[in-house]
Amino acid sequence: MELSNRQEQIIQIVKDNGPITGENIAEQLSLTRATLRPDLAILTMAGFLDARPRVGYFFTGKTGTELLTEKLKKFKVEEYQSVPIVVEEDVSAYDAICTMFLEDVGTLFVTNEFSHLVGVVSRKDLLRASIGNQDLSSVPVHIIMTRMPNITICEPDDLLLDAAQKLIEKQIDGLPVVHVQDDTFEVIGRLTKTNITKALVELGRDQHM
Ligand code: ADP
Repeated sequence: MELSNRQEQIIQIVKDNGPITGENIAEQLSLTRATLRPDLAILTMAGFLDARPRVGYFFTGKTGTELLTEKLKKFKVEEYQSVPIVVEEDVSAYDAICTMFLEDVGTLFVTNEFSHLVGVVSRKDLLRASIGNQDLSSVPVHIIMTRMPNITICEPDDLLLDAAQKLIEKQIDGLPVVHVQDDTFEVIGRLTKTNITKALVELGRDQHM
């Protein structure tokens, strides 16, 4: 976050003199306590300063980058996930392509008759199938999908940062968000590079509360 000149001055005063009361900070800046209140609130909320009752303000010692990292490490998958687009394993590759266009997604999750995750179909899987000159309406997706147990998943409570790391390590565009029940996975969401980008923009624009 961008700090105003006055906020920078407050930090310096607290660094040099902390713990220090709001009253004393105001005195040093020749301002009233009331005028300073919003700045002190911002600096405390952002984590630069901490306040103890009857003691005053003190400097937390954290840099802007440390505070940003702290914030990022609180982001959870469930706050950013999208709705999953799911097809059953016996739909055709042709229908899978139609679903991708209609739903405007690049990855489909494939489930069995019990609605358990059995695979993932991406754009490349469908392109690969279509250069084989096969009749795509007679090829079921379970033939061309990446299948369990090779599916990389995440859970709603996982850190967004850990999910992002999986996307990079596995070189994939998205992860199914699942509820794990015994050894089966129920698909409840979709986490893609777009979701991560959204989180990054929020963080940069300081919109995440
Ligand atoms: P695209 O095909 O649009 O480049 P990906 O890079 O996500 O999309 O997919 C590359 C390959 O990885 C495909 O074969 C796909 O089936 C597979 N894949 C995609 N997502 C996952 C996942 N979550 N777990 C395992 N494999 C995946």
